Amino acid sequence: MRSKQKYSVKDEYKEIALERIHELFKQADIQFHDNEKELANRYMYLVRKLAMKYKVKIPSALKRQYCKKCLHYLVAGENARVRSTGKVIVYSCKDCGQLNRIGYK
Ligand SMILES: [Zn+2]
Repeated sequence: MRSKQKYSVKDEYKEIALERIHELFKQADIQFHDNEKELANRYMYLVRKLAMKYKVKIPSALKRQYCKKCLHYLVAGENARVRSTGKVIVYSCKDCGQLNRIGYK
């Protein structure tokens, strides 16, 4: 019988990575409202790097807070326009014009 235990160490790293991602979003929010938008965007770059390195999924609640194209931190009403069309929420990034669609159940 094969054990699935061999992934436990990796999962541990994933957990740490996820924690860091949450922390980076928190910091980005602070910097954004402090008018340090470049720094907030830099954090999003780090979030993406972390997510790719550890192959973690960025939680959907956080996914809507950054632009997939230009990796800018998005704040609804500030640099993002939010529209809800039926089952999908569309976030448009005012910096690059990218539409980020997020479905919800
Ligand atoms: Zn963008």
